[in-house]
Amino acid sequence: MITRDEILKDKPLIIAGPCAVESREQLLSIAEKLHAMGVKVMRCQLWKPRTDRASFQGIGLTGIPWLKEIKEKYGFIIATEVLDKDHVDGVKDVSDILWIGARNMQNFELLKKLGDDPRPAILKRGFIATLDEWMASAKYIGLEKTILCERGIRTGADSMRFTMDLNTALVAKFDKNMPVIVDPSHPAGRADMVPRLAYAAMASGVDGLVIEVHSNPNEAQSDKSQQITPEVFDVVYKKVLEIYKLVN
Ligand code: PEP
Ligand code: MN
Repeated sequence: MITRDEILKDKPLIIAGPCAVESREQLLSIAEKLHAMGVKVMRCQLWKPRTDRASFQGIGLTGIPWLKEIKEKYGFIIATEVLDKDHVDGVKDVSDILWIGARNMQNFELLKKLGDDPRPAILKRGFIATLDEWMASAKYIGLEKTILCERGIRTGADSMRFTMDLNTALVAKFDKNMPVIVDPSHPAGRADMVPRLAYAAMASGVDGLVIEVHSNPNEAQSDKSQQITPEVFDVVYKKVLEIYKLVN
C-alpha cells in the first residue's frame, strides 16, 4: 500500500485520466500516452454519479481487469471514485487512492467506511461547502490520509460551469496545513479554458492538479466538452511543472 505522504513526495501531484473509464481500448489508449508523458497517477472512474438517470453510469466492476492491466504494464497509482461502501471493497486489489466526489462530500456513512480503510483518499469539496464543513468531512476519513480537492463551487457567476475557489484552497493548505489539489476541468466545463484555469491554480501555490484527458473527447460518454486531448495535456503538463518550480 502506498501512503498519502509517499504519493506527495514527488510534487506537484498531477493526476490525469478520462472522466470515466469506458472500455479497455479507451483506457489503454490514454494510459499509454499519459505514461509516455511521465504521469504517475491516473484517475480511473468506474462509477459515475450522474444527475440524469439516462446518462452513462459507469462501467462498474467490469473495468477492474483493465485497471489491473494498466497498473501492471505502466506502474500507475490508481485513483477511483467510490459512490457506496461496496465500491470501497470492490476496488480493494486495484485502487491505491479512494476518491469521494463533490456529491458525496457529506455522505457520512461512506466517509466512515473510508475512515476504516488504510488507503489514502481524495476528498472533493461539495458544491457550496464551507471550509469548516470540508475539514469536518476530512476528519471522518482521517486528516493524515486525506488530500483535499477544490473542484469549483456555485456562486452568482455563471460564465463557466463552476467558480474555481482558490481562496478556500489556499486557506485549506496554508492555514489548515492540508495537501490541496485543484480540478480545473469541472469549473471550466469547456476544454479551451482548462489550461488557463490549470495555470492559475498552479500559480496560486497548491500541491497539484487533477485534469480530465481523453484520447477522443468528442466520443466521450461523460463531460465531453471539458476533456482535453493528450496533445493539449502534454503542453499543459510541461507548463504547470515550470510554474510549480517558479512559485516554490
Ligand atoms: C469527476 O471528477 O468526474 C466528478 C464527477 O467531479 P465532481 O465530483 O467534482 O463533480
Ligand atoms: Mn467529469
